[in-house]
Amino acid sequence: MDLISIDDLSDAQVEWILDRAVRLHQGRHQVGGLKGRIVFNLFYEASTRTLMSFATAAHRLGATAITLPVEQSSVRKGETLDDTARTLDAMRPDAVVIRHRENGSASSAAAIMACPVINAGDGTNEHPTQALLDAATMRQRVGRIDGLKIAICGDIKHSRVARSNAKLLPRLGAEVRLAGPPELMPESGACLSVDEAIAGADIVMMLRVQRERLDQEFGDAPGEYLRLYGLTDERLARAAPGALVMHPGPMNRGVEIDSAIADDAARSLINLQVAMGVATRMACLEMLLA
Ligand code: ASP
Repeated sequence: MDLISIDDLSDAQVEWILDRAVRLHQGRHQVGGLKGRIVFNLFYEASTRTLMSFATAAHRLGATAITLPVEQSSVRKGETLDDTARTLDAMRPDAVVIRHRENGSASSAAAIMACPVINAGDGTNEHPTQALLDAATMRQRVGRIDGLKIAICGDIKHSRVARSNAKLLPRLGAEVRLAGPPELMPESGACLSVDEAIAGADIVMMLRVQRERLDQEFGDAPGEYLRLYGLTDERLARAAPGALVMHPGPMNRGVEIDSAIADDAARSLINLQVAMGVATRMACLEMLLA
């Protein structure tokens, strides 16, 4: 089985992963079940959280994670993704984690490789383990997802995190509201303003402006994006009492989120998201390699 999209998972598999992730995070677990297994990390795009948490997850399970330094690999000599996938497949890894700038890349690699392939972000398409770790974070902190009002705000158009969450969270009973600058919304999307989306929300998830995917610079004057669309105290005051704040990282501080809100331990789940990322990826590796 591969994990390319949230759609690849049944409701029972989603439940198993979330439940297991919370148990692993809380230390009620047995690890080491993947001793002797090998996980390849193949990251064509920059990453800190996803790359390091997959490697940490593999090690905690007793497996060995090997990361291809893509910039120093034959990719620099022009090798195609398909040929790299064929080459790595011949080494018989037990799983491959792939991030690539093109939509559909993880699925093409999976068609070539015999082992399970995990999509760690393909272009603007999907990032399923991010959505799973976001859901696991809510489970861990709030105890439930059913009935939560969740505002996802920012550069929706380029966000694979938003796409995967928009598929997963409603399946778990949440109401998801997507909002952002009109230029950064998908053409088909219903256009809520950020203020409307945040009103009464239990969770406010802010997204990074994905400058690397923009044709031209967005939000010229310093402070303008924060004032118009970012998470400020004033805007957060519209949310439900006790509302919690999330961000998949990396953050543009002072752009999509006020720095003090990001660092406010009482309201910000950003560090918990990182911790749950390790636990969730452990659960995913266990499920796929069992
Ligand atoms: N780290 C997330 C991703 O790779 C979010 C982001 O980059 O803004 O999609």
